[in-house]
Amino acid sequence: MANIQSFGAAKVVTGSAHLLTLDNGTKILIDFGMFQGEHEEKNAQPLEFDPKELDYLFFTHAHLDHVGRAPLLFKHGFRGKIITTKATLDLARIVMLDSAHLMEETFHLHFKKAQRRSEEHKVKTPLYTAMTVESLLTLKKQFVHYDKTITLEGGINITFRNAGHILGSAFIEIDFMEGDRTKHLVFSGDLGNKNDLVLPVPEHAKEADVLYIESTYGDRDHKDIGASIAEFKTIIIDTLNNNANVMIPSFAIERTQEILCLLKSMYLNGELPECRIFLDSPMAIRATRVYNKHVQELSKQCKDFEEQDGSVFDFPNLEFTTTPRASKKINEVTERAIIISGSGMCNGGRIMHHFKHRLWNKRNAVIFVGYQANGTLGRHIVEGAKEIELYHEKISVNASIHTINGFSAHADQNELLEWMRAFKHLDKVFLIHGEEDKQLIFKDVIQEKLHKDVHIVNINEVINL
Ligand code: ZN
Repeated sequence: MANIQSFGAAKVVTGSAHLLTLDNGTKILIDFGMFQGEHEEKNAQPLEFDPKELDYLFFTHAHLDHVGRAPLLFKHGFRGKIITTKATLDLARIVMLDSAHLMEETFHLHFKKAQRRSEEHKVKTPLYTAMTVESLLTLKKQFVHYDKTITLEGGINITFRNAGHILGSAFIEIDFMEGDRTKHLVFSGDLGNKNDLVLPVPEHAKEADVLYIESTYGDRDHKDIGASIAEFKTIIIDTLNNNANVMIPSFAIERTQEILCLLKSMYLNGELPECRIFLDSPMAIRATRVYNKHVQELSKQCKDFEEQDGSVFDFPNLEFTTTPRASKKINEVTERAIIISGSGMCNGGRIMHHFKHRLWNKRNAVIFVGYQANGTLGRHIVEGAKEIELYHEKISVNASIHTINGFSAHADQNELLEWMRAFKHLDKVFLIHGEEDKQLIFKDVIQEKLHKDVHIVNINEVINL
């Protein structure tokens, strides 16, 4: 009997890794992401399966918690085929290389210090390097288009459909023979919401004997996007008209492009006061170029932008600052600047030096447009810190701090239910990619409203299909 074993994103939201083993012995790994936050130490643990035995690696989308450990597969002997959309692989390359560079940088920093104490043997080596990423990407690849079914060896049919979560994201339908009947399996990956500014709305699936669905926001609904956009615009306009500056810590993929679209539409509508806008994040700049390249997969508004002036995101106010020198030069701009920079949760990156130079000034504003995890500097500021320490210096938090919660790359409870309602046939539901307390709420709601059989998947649990 075919089965699925989940090695990550089971009762947690990170470390996605689901191994599908079919009757004929075919082994397909769906995503192999990094554990993040409090579960990070799991990334260094030995793998629970042999990558040499894998035939295929599918990526649902390019977020770190879905692709971040994939280079480890190559390191441990995986030589099978990678199947995903072209946009996902373009973004995954950026994400995996960024992850490798961060790990290499941290290693060198600790190694130098440890050398001075003659303790270099104690320093953990990086999980993988940029070279491992490049090696993984030399493997055979098959790029899939949305809604085009392809047949793999052993008569397995797979269809990737637009999940509307980030560029290239997909949910995957897998049809295979079990005895004399066809089984339909659907993996949701991460599902986006209808209000995404740069992507078309997610597609629906029609049939599933078994559905594996994410449950990140299974416990609640998002705030209204219209109100969030209005709030965002007001802060921008008021701060710039006061000859001050706005800092926006932002995630490199999707959120940054949404913010750029919003600012561009303000510019085109004549709502944007005179200002300079800096996209000051090398990773976000690279990701924005990938978005530009795949314009046919973006929202109608993005396509219109591209048709008007040959680029989705460019407009006269916007400047890309790639080098550290260009980034430092922004400090000379004392008024009417909007600085979009990483990291999204302010636990490193160029946003730190912008905070140092501008957070003390009460005329400036900071707009948080994404989730701030526990323990990050971003969370500390959002929760009302009066002072922070940066580069061994105490900095007063006098700028106005705004948190806008309406932007989300994930479907909320209502959207997840709507998505499931569209199935003509849906037999069993398995919840993955969510925190357990939220999954318990979501499970009850699904049972009550959709009357489906629901199971919350445990880590390493084998589910027979
Ligand atoms: Zn995601």
